[in-house]
Amino acid sequence: REGFGIYDNNDVLIFCNPTLASHFCLTPEQALGKTFAEMLRCQVNESDGLTIQNEDIDALVKRTHNGAREQGQYTYESTVFTGKCLLVSLTKSSDNELFVFTSDITQQKQTELDLRDALEKVEKLAATDPLTEISNRRHFISQAEKELARSRRQNSPATLLSMDIDHFKKINDNYGHLVGDQVLKSVAQICKKTLRSHDIFGRLGGEEFSIMLPDTDLCGGHEVAERLRENIQQLNIKHNEHIINVTASIGLCKANSDTLNLNELLSRADEALYYAKNTGRNKVELWPISARIRRFNF
Ligand code: GH3
Ligand code: MG
Ligand code: MG
Repeated sequence: REGFGIYDNNDVLIFCNPTLASHFCLTPEQALGKTFAEMLRCQVNESDGLTIQNEDIDALVKRTHNGAREQGQYTYESTVFTGKCLLVSLTKSSDNELFVFTSDITQQKQTELDLRDALEKVEKLAATDPLTEISNRRHFISQAEKELARSRRQNSPATLLSMDIDHFKKINDNYGHLVGDQVLKSVAQICKKTLRSHDIFGRLGGEEFSIMLPDTDLCGGHEVAERLRENIQQLNIKHNEHIINVTASIGLCKANSDTLNLNELLSRADEALYYAKNTGRNKVELWPISARIRRFNF
């Protein structure tokens, strides 16, 4: 299964076994006497053999054979049209000949690809809330921290929202936990539709969600929060003959106002959220305005 060949100092093939010739869709008799570039041209015309990606034949020869002549050794991976993957190793002799060895690494490559796929899936699972399929708490926090650092570095605004479904316990009590789950999914979906793709949105737990809006000041954030609140209010989730109405309260704060960390900012947004809860629910409140109103008892 291994290919072996020798190119002389003019890059002409002077020896090879059938496996090496077969990489170029040639027999040893057809291959001998040809340069590496000529062999590549033969097989390109046949539209079979080694695939040449993102570079022409001359560039490939320069990178591989000239590379080996300059460095003494050059190893590269090459795929064959049939999907086979080869590891090609070139070694320069003291007479400036090139010894070429090829081995079939298709199986290893496939295993590597399968592992990469599996890892991607595991990473996605570890970041996703299984019920709503949006980011879970851990992933939200990590994404929001990155965004907070970026917005501070670039001195761009960012706004943080805390959102909690109103009287959600009653939905569970009246219609059952499974319907409650369906409501959580619908709320997550409508929020996702309302938000931009680069907004950071996650379920922090239970019926509590958080949103970080990059490049958005408090005024813009307030508009988004109102849109979210209205869209949730208009959901009208059908269950048997019932229509379930759901509302949410939202608190928000400027996310990059000072050196506070994400936890402290989440507390501020929560403070505004609880003010919204205590003053009627189904509303949006800003930090610190509402907090001041509360403190001075207006
Ligand atoms: P408030 O307006 O003050 O937020 O009232 P609330 O009823 O929404 O809040 P409370 O914290 O009293 O109740 C939240 C409920 O959410 C209690 C809990 O059983 C339920 N819950 C938490 N996680 C899930 C879940 O994954 N699925 C369902 N169906 N219910 C959940
Ligand atoms: Mg609630
Ligand atoms: Mg809650």
